[in-house]
Parts: sequence; structure tokens; C-alpha cells
Amino acid sequence: MNIILMGLPGAGKGTQAEQIKANYPVPHISTGDMFRAAIKNETPLGLEAKSYMDKGELVPDSVTIGLVEERLNQEDAKGGFLLDGFPRTVEQAVALDKILAKTNRKIEKVINIDVETSILLPRLTGRRICKSCGTTYHLVFNPTKVEGVCDNCQGELYQRSDDNEETVANRLEVNIKQTAPLLDFYNRKENVVENINGDQDIKVVFSEIKKVLDTLK
Ligand code: ADP
Ligand code: AMP
Repeated sequence: MNIILMGLPGAGKGTQAEQIKANYPVPHISTGDMFRAAIKNETPLGLEAKSYMDKGELVPDSVTIGLVEERLNQEDAKGGFLLDGFPRTVEQAVALDKILAKTNRKIEKVINIDVETSILLPRLTGRRICKSCGTTYHLVFNPTKVEGVCDNCQGELYQRSDDNEETVANRLEVNIKQTAPLLDFYNRKENVVENINGDQDIKVVFSEIKKVLDTLK
């Protein structure tokens, strides 16, 4: 299954990707995670990406598209993939189609997690992530059993440096601007976009996504 998880920052893409990964044999390819790994490893890519991420801006397409092409051509992605956070611009979407066409692949479904923008700021500022296994929590909406400790691996939780109120506001503005044209691009393809209401319990959102994915088998 060649799938894109679409949605504004905080819509629940990473949370749902964790569930999808646990139920279907697809690699989760998150450009945000790839940039954060590069920053942690202090690579030149990380250094460049950081300057944009800190401001809540998009990393330029010239950098992002090449990174994704390389990843999609790795062995584990050849039988299917779950893209999260890419594409974010129409230019990226056009480039993605071209990358996939080279190996006779195409996008089968775009799962668009739809939420009212007003709920996103509290979701993002309250987000906490496990340092060891990467599981995503929320201080109020999806708390750990023991405060500050991961339920899965007892790892320590941290807050992403771009989840502060100021950066979040710009991230939302930047992403909202790109969303309508991107959705138009995919809505022009027949039977590709599936809109899912993301303002429901995490388990309910997953059960709706599962229904869509089960049609692809
Ligand atoms: P994204 O990857 O789209 O930016 P996340 O999956 O990281 O979003 O979710 C953002 C925050 O909202 C996290 O703290 C997560 O625990 C919380 N969250 C995700 N889905 C829901 C939901 N359906 N209801 C309430 N909170 C949610
Ligand atoms: P995310 O983890 O998806 O919230 O992304 C965090 C940040 O990484 C974004 O605010 C952007 O700066 C950058 N980023 C992630 N994906 C992309 C993309 N497809 N295009 C450009 N920048 C991206």
C-alpha cells in the first residue's frame, strides 16, 4: 500500500502512523522525523533544516524532495510505504508522482485527517514524545500512566523545540496556506482522497483509517 497521511500539524498523523505501523507491514516515512534525526546527528542536512524548522518555515523543496526520493528507493519501501508530512506543497506532490512513476508506482490513497484549526494549538503545545522509543503523548488528551514516563519503555519524555506557542502559530499559518491547493491536486485524482474526522477519540480515528486500508489488501 502506497499511502499518504495528510493533515495540519497536530491533526494526529504521527499518532495514527504508530497504530498503522503496528497493524500493517509498511515503513513509516516522516520527513519531520528524518530532519530531526539529521539535526541530532549534526549532519549538513540537519544544520540547514534546523534554521527553517526553528522558525516554523518549510524546508526548501530542493532539499526535501531529494531526501524523500532516496528513502522511497530503499528496499523496505518498494512494497509499500506510509508517508507522513510529505508532500506539503503542490511542487512536492508533482515531484512525488514523477519519482514513483520511474518505478511504476503510484499513490493509492491520501488519508486526510481533518480537524478544526482551533484545536491544534493546544494539541501541539501539550505534545510530549518519548526520547527512547518516539511514542507520542499529550499532557491532557493522551497522558502517560506515570507523569513524564513512557508507558511502553519507561523512557523519559521531551517537548519538541518547535512546539512552543510562537513557532506553532507560524507553522499553522504556513501549512494552512499550502493545504487547499494540495488537497485540490489530490481531489483531481479519482477515488484517492479519504477524509477522516480527526476530532474524535484516537481509537475511533484509527478504526476509520483501518476501514480504508483494509480495502487495499
Ligand atoms: P501530527 O503528527 O499530525 O503533527 P500528532 O500525532 O503528533 O500530530 O498529535 C499531536 C498531539 O495531539 C499529540 O500530543 C497527540 O497525543 C495528540 N492527539 C493526536 N490525536 C488526537 C486525538 N484524536 N484526540 C486528542 N489528541 C490527539
Ligand atoms: P513535522 O514533524 O511534520 O511537524 O515537521 C516539522 C518541521 O519539519 C516542519 O515545520 C518543517 O520545517 C519541516 N518539514 C517536515 N516535512 C516537510 C516537508 N514535506 N516540506 C518542508 N518542510 C518539512
